[in-house]
Amino acid sequence: MTDTTAGRFAGKTIVVTGAGSGIGRATAIRLAGEGGRVIATDVVAERLDALRADLPDADLETVVGDVSQAETIQQVVAAAGDRIDSLANVAGIMDRFLPPSEVDDATWERVFSVNVTAPMRLTRAVLPLMIAAGSGTIVNVASEAALRGSTAGAAYTSSKHAIAGFTKSIAFFHGPQGIRANAVAPGAVETNIEAPMGSEYAASRIGPVVQAIVPAAAQPDQLAAAITWLLSDDSSNVNGVVLPSDGGWSAV
Ligand code: NAD
Repeated sequence: MTDTTAGRFAGKTIVVTGAGSGIGRATAIRLAGEGGRVIATDVVAERLDALRADLPDADLETVVGDVSQAETIQQVVAAAGDRIDSLANVAGIMDRFLPPSEVDDATWERVFSVNVTAPMRLTRAVLPLMIAAGSGTIVNVASEAALRGSTAGAAYTSSKHAIAGFTKSIAFFHGPQGIRANAVAPGAVETNIEAPMGSEYAASRIGPVVQAIVPAAAQPDQLAAAITWLLSDDSSNVNGVVLPSDGGWSAV
């Protein structure tokens, strides 16, 4: 793991979605290790059980549920109680790389539901507490697909551009109320995300690009380092950015 900062989140309550695996799990572990109270949510119960087992001494609450469902969001906010200092919207799904000519309505709607609508609803649910407190930080996990058109299918690319725009909207409207919102754009990361190739045409377009310019995959804790920095007071002058953490991919 990258070096942690002792006590950086002491006294803070932080909600993390997608906390059962990959980037969300690494973020939850780091936040707990830096003294935070973590409300960890994921749709896979066994993953949250494993997280709890791995962090026996952490101040950790888990909420099992699909974050695209309103009831899960209500349960998360209820579990947090009367303060939520930070929110990390990490949960996300891919789209079988279907290009605009092949994307079906169900894929488009499911990807937008998880990658855009759910973070919007959770953000909307936590903002009243943050505004009342006069402070709060939000980090949305975007993707290299928020920066270019060659890394995923039409639905995923559009959803990640949308979450980047939503991040800037939060920063613009609620910055004066003490809220900071930023996004991290990971390149390739070694996680459990399902990324089957569902289109021969997409494979023919994306394959050569990926081979030519994509750096080696990162580890989830490298992303957790960027996410926790943006959630913390260490980034107090940063609001509304989309920060690539991609080994230099976005410079190509
Ligand atoms: P992951 O699959 O390892 O972890 C994501 C977690 O989110 C899983 O535990 C999954 O159960 C959970 N989840 C998925 N849908 C959910 C839902 N509807 N409700 C609640 N929980 C749900 O994947 P990861 O790679 O850690 O992905 C985290 C984020 O990083 C995603 O937003 C993804 O788009 C983004 N990302 C990943 C990569 C990569 O290469 N891994 C690259 C760029 C962006």
